[in-house]
Amino acid sequence: MSNEIKNDRASWLKGPEVECSVPPTQIDRPWRLVLLGAPGVGKGTQADLITQRLHCCHLSTGDVFRAAKGNDHQTPAMAAALQCMKQGALVPDSTVWEMVRERARCVRCRGGFVLDGFPRTLAQANALQGLLEQEKLQLDGVLNYELPVAEVVARISGRRVCGKCKAVFHETQPPLRVRGYCDHCGGQLTQREDDRPEAVVKVRLEVYERDTAPLIEFYRSLGLLISIPAHGTPEETFERSLKALQAAN
Ligand code: AMP
Repeated sequence: MSNEIKNDRASWLKGPEVECSVPPTQIDRPWRLVLLGAPGVGKGTQADLITQRLHCCHLSTGDVFRAAKGNDHQTPAMAAALQCMKQGALVPDSTVWEMVRERARCVRCRGGFVLDGFPRTLAQANALQGLLEQEKLQLDGVLNYELPVAEVVARISGRRVCGKCKAVFHETQPPLRVRGYCDHCGGQLTQREDDRPEAVVKVRLEVYERDTAPLIEFYRSLGLLISIPAHGTPEETFERSLKALQAAN
């Protein structure tokens, strides 16, 4: 992990009325990226690596929902969204879009962004294009991570998350220093609620094929799609991503 002070993404995770603890790094070239790929392919891990190297902010819609989980003052829409998430279904477009639109300043942020888990439907992708046009911003690329479905399932079933620092690991690849505990902070590792049982994972993969995979053609037709083989270690995939991004820009 990098020793740099990490932005806590407070404006994204908690809402627009909250300020981020670390102001965005002043950079000449803010990167604005979207990550696509099946659940479990490693988008979150790639987003973290991209954030560390390119200094843009990791904007994950799934993280906003997970952050709202323990909140006592959930709106009815958020409570319904958490129920969808538990079942492996998509949260309705209207709820997701309201949440992203409220956080438009994260999209405008001069540090740039890497969107992870959004957009997930054509309606969301069109809404994002509208917002970007309104803000006179352009995406630099849409990285589409590709992996055979059997490997995706293996990654999902082995995924473990630190309850304390939220770092993400695989149970065996590479082996943890102490099984069940975070290599970074020693916190206890748990499995994401929607990474089991198998039936929920199956629903998530079907939903991906039906609702999200069409975005590959959507972004290809805009000339933004960059396909990246996601096999091997996270670092190998990251190096492929960086090379492909540099070649495309
Ligand atoms: P993720 O962390 O991206 O895998 O998202 C976890 C879950 O949150 C998904 O399975 C959905 O239930 C919900 N979710 C996250 N982002 C979106 C989105 N853009 N559209 C609809 N549902 C979403």
